[in-house]
Amino acid sequence: MDTLAVFNPANGTQLAEIPADDLASVAAKAERARTAQPAWRRMPWAERQACIERFRAALERQVDALAATLTAEVGKPIVQARNEIRGLLGRIDFFLAQAQASVADETVFADAGMTERISHDPLGVVANISAWNYPYFVGGNVFVPALLTGNAVLYKPSEFATLTGLEIARLLHEAGVPRDVFVPLVGTGAVGQALLGEHIDGVFFTGSHATGAKIAAAMGPRLVKLQLELGGKDPSYVCEDADVANAAASLADGAMYNTGQSCCSVERIYVHERSHDDFVDAFVAAVRGFKVGDPMDESTYIGPLTRAAQLEVLAEQVADATRRNATLRLGGRRIEQPGNWFEPTVFTEVDHAMTLMREESFGPLIGIQKVQDDAEALECMNDTRYGLTAGVYTPDAARAQALLAQVNAGSVYWNCCDRVSPRLPWSGHGDSGIGLTLSTYGIQTFTRPRAWHLRKA
Ligand code: NAD
Repeated sequence: MDTLAVFNPANGTQLAEIPADDLASVAAKAERARTAQPAWRRMPWAERQACIERFRAALERQVDALAATLTAEVGKPIVQARNEIRGLLGRIDFFLAQAQASVADETVFADAGMTERISHDPLGVVANISAWNYPYFVGGNVFVPALLTGNAVLYKPSEFATLTGLEIARLLHEAGVPRDVFVPLVGTGAVGQALLGEHIDGVFFTGSHATGAKIAAAMGPRLVKLQLELGGKDPSYVCEDADVANAAASLADGAMYNTGQSCCSVERIYVHERSHDDFVDAFVAAVRGFKVGDPMDESTYIGPLTRAAQLEVLAEQVADATRRNATLRLGGRRIEQPGNWFEPTVFTEVDHAMTLMREESFGPLIGIQKVQDDAEALECMNDTRYGLTAGVYTPDAARAQALLAQVNAGSVYWNCCDRVSPRLPWSGHGDSGIGLTLSTYGIQTFTRPRAWHLRKA
């Protein structure tokens, strides 16, 4: 039997070795989900809703134990692990309040015996292939609305967050979701790839651009609904009239929270030349204040990287920036101890020839670039193949509005960053992906509209 070994990224020890799926078990699970979905769809809405309410209650009751598992396998600092699970509770509340109304039948025209109506059918059986960095968020954004709207879900958690994925499955099953309606699949990318070959009605993927592009290529000829939530190189611009202390505190958090491993982490900072030096001092001081250490410790803010391979990416970006004469203000090296540790790292005097200003870092590494005016800041912000989020710090609402309206990004922030709301659509431009989750659009996306043309005889 195939197995998957799970390691603790904080010290390299093995946490578990669990049975993994193979081609035959993936096919059998997909078949069972196909058979089970119609009954789940026919179930009264209130019963599906009650399952999700019980799931929510169980998450809330078990938050401490679930957070400990998440921290052990991905290295997320324990306070941030609890924040993520509690954050999912808020997202579930939004879906519980909005899902039924978002997909209710709607009469859009009625006149002289002719009625036009829209109804929403579930897609059917959907694949939910997930990343490890926020498994409760990126999983929940998909499986909660997908289940509520009557779909069966084949859920492939990341190989780096599988214990958490299996906990999610256990809680959903205990809450009453049938085992063949929410079906976890265990394994590496090969298992995700095998899943794509099955009879599925939608693929909802969260992960890297490289994998997303492979999935798009594989699914193109299949004409199956495809959503890709991919990476980012998210910029923020600090204007000369911004409160430097507030902007530095906000952006240090936005760059380093979750050890910089958020799709919407701030990865590039542009500062007006008049505030640049003060900002850099405040930013470096804020980052110095973050405690790096054991992720199980309540006071830890920065933990290990989840994936050892990312250490090499960071080391290469540091070497490239150094070679090109950037100024290293903080950190810059691996921390030599067991586990995947890298110092929080800040560079200034950077430019877009450097990989750290172009390629996703996905770690505690940031470049701060001086700009002369708003036009240069805007040009720099848009000089990227990604387009997930972007922010502007200034007290001037009109100035922020004018800049943010021209930024090529799915989410834009005024005086804030690294923020996701269940009420707003979450989407990316360019290489950050296609499709969306969250908001009422992110509920309807799990359904197919049916157009009814009804003429009285
Ligand atoms: P990844 O692409 O390595 O893996 C994501 C998932 O895809 C995993 O479950 C993996 O097993 C699976 N997979 C790998 N190869 C596959 C294949 N050929 N076919 C099918 N499935 C396959 O990404 P990751 O390291 O888990 O996640 C980090 C990335 O995710 C970052 O780029 C981050 O920015 C991005 N991300 C984006 C969002 C967003 O909302 N836009 C949210 C979180 C993370």
